[in-house]
Amino acid sequence: MGIKKTLIEYSKVFSSGDYIFSEGEQGDSAFLIEAGQVELFVTHENSQEQLVSLLGPGEIFGEMSILDNQKREVSARAKSEVVLSIITKKQLLERIDSADPILRLIIAVLIDKTRDTIATSKSITQNRKHSVKEKSNSKTQITDLHLGLDVIQKIRYEKQLHEALEKNELEVHFQPIVSLDTQNIVGFESLTRWNSPENGKISPDVFMGIAEETSLIVPLGHWIIERSCQDFAAIQSALRKGLGNIPKLFCSINVSGRQIEDPDFFDVLQRATWANKIKPNQIKLEITERVIVSSKKVMQWIEKCREVGYSVALDDFGTGYSSLSYLSQIDANNIKIDKSFVDAMESDNKTFVILKSVIQMAHGLNKTVISEGIETAQQAKILKQIGCRYGQGYLFSKPLSKDDMVEFLLSKTSKKKAA
Ligand code: C2E
Ligand code: CA
Ligand code: CA
Repeated sequence: MGIKKTLIEYSKVFSSGDYIFSEGEQGDSAFLIEAGQVELFVTHENSQEQLVSLLGPGEIFGEMSILDNQKREVSARAKSEVVLSIITKKQLLERIDSADPILRLIIAVLIDKTRDTIATSKSITQNRKHSVKEKSNSKTQITDLHLGLDVIQKIRYEKQLHEALEKNELEVHFQPIVSLDTQNIVGFESLTRWNSPENGKISPDVFMGIAEETSLIVPLGHWIIERSCQDFAAIQSALRKGLGNIPKLFCSINVSGRQIEDPDFFDVLQRATWANKIKPNQIKLEITERVIVSSKKVMQWIEKCREVGYSVALDDFGTGYSSLSYLSQIDANNIKIDKSFVDAMESDNKTFVILKSVIQMAHGLNKTVISEGIETAQQAKILKQIGCRYGQGYLFSKPLSKDDMVEFLLSKTSKKKAA
């Protein structure tokens, strides 16, 4: 019984009949069968053995007690000469840690079910029931991560978001982008809103994140494009009706990382712009720098946008990955300075100096700069002084629904005329 010889550090060889581990032991590794057969079995009180499974090359066993930090509930024995690769606890837990939280929850549930099945076959269900309390107190490796509620809430949100999309309960709001020179509106950013009947207003940071983790982002992305184009066209025509001739405006639409891989993206966009009589150069597609650094595919996607006539804006510039050198490599013709820069520029001289250089450099590269999150007249004044020509923020307007935006703009113009 036991280890016959060690081949290399992470391999073990067992002879037929050797125990690999026994019930009741604390597991510290899992095994991958490279050659031979392994039988897993339980031993009943009358010493009778019951086979649970017979495993062969390519199969893994012994992982359960590492994952839930419980004792082995089966024994493993070599049925022939067996060669095993050892998977250490650390290797396994590192992979689990980096897995999707929903997957981790599923693994935890499956392990629990498997243990129940084994316990039933050993007729020790009663014992296990008695130990439930003890078990819930002893944190397992997976549930240790305090995921339970979070994950379940996410699954609920995902289901409700599906329904909201089907029932057309989502909305797109618009926030004006203004010229800091003239204060005139030059365009809008469309921002998606979800007022859930069950949970109230949910931040787009949350629901777009959930959509992005699932395939829901594709239909949601299509809906956002279609609705943004439709409502943008409606705003323009209402303004034309109310004010006569208006200058050409643009609409910025946020695009998430996974939408870039959507093969229908350009079809949907081109159809939506064409159907609403919008020129491609009136649409700016906003992508964050986090997405951009990730792949060559993104660079090609940007080139394709530019080829077919759409503008591209580099969103949230300054939040982490920004490197001045890659500003020149990216074909985006707009950059949006993140609110955190605008917030810090008055109190932190370094930020101010960097911001000033970024604006100059972007202009040198023929890119338009839009500063985000402007809340005070002083911020707008400083940004204008250092050469930034466009801004967006609560100072000018919060994001508003299509109808509220039209009303806001018409009343603003009539007040201007009256003054
Ligand atoms: P973002 O693209 O950076 O959008 C700007 C966010 O800043 C918006 O938040 C806007 O309401 C907010 N904001 C604008 N001006 C001010 C200001 O002066 N002060 C403050 N405190 N905030 C201001 P919102 O609408 O909550 O959106 C959050 C993020 O969710 C967006 O950040 C964007 O990343 C994402 N998002 C929203 N709608 C969409 C969408 O349709 N598609 C995608 N892919 N992402 C979206
Ligand atoms: Ca944006
Ligand atoms: Ca932004």
